[in-house]
Amino acid sequence: MGMETYIQVLKNNRLKVTPRRKAIIGVFMKHGVRMGPYELYEKLKRKLPKLGLPTVYRILEELKDAGILVQSLAEDRRLRYALCACPDEHHHHFTCRKCKKVEEVEFCNFNGLSSFIEKNLNAKVESHNLQIEGLCARCR
Ligand SMILES: [Zn+2]
Ligand SMILES: [Zn+2]
Ligand SMILES: [Zn+2]
Repeated sequence: MGMETYIQVLKNNRLKVTPRRKAIIGVFMKHGVRMGPYELYEKLKRKLPKLGLPTVYRILEELKDAGILVQSLAEDRRLRYALCACPDEHHHHFTCRKCKKVEEVEFCNFNGLSSFIEKNLNAKVESHNLQIEGLCARCR
């Protein structure tokens, strides 16, 4: 997915296409890995000297709410973000714990688990969230 598509997603979510938002998306497009606010701040501070860390936090949350980024919890229990190529369809992501590359997993087989929960807990399942990690094809 190119920058034009992400710009369209920003517009669809009534978020202004600002140089800061574009720059953050650009860093994710360039690296293809998951990153935390501080890593982004470090990569952008020369290009955008007025950009503060709190703004980076805020933009990451905005982009997450728009579906452009997905959030996960790293080993240090801190939040990381990664770019999502297909914000509209339900799917999952695979993260390599070694090189931090994030790949799209356009598949979900949750139904069996969902039925089990509904039957055994007599509950109604409304959403789920999977954090899948391991070693990518290059790192394994
Ligand atoms: Zn995705
Ligand atoms: Zn890897
Ligand atoms: Zn799923």
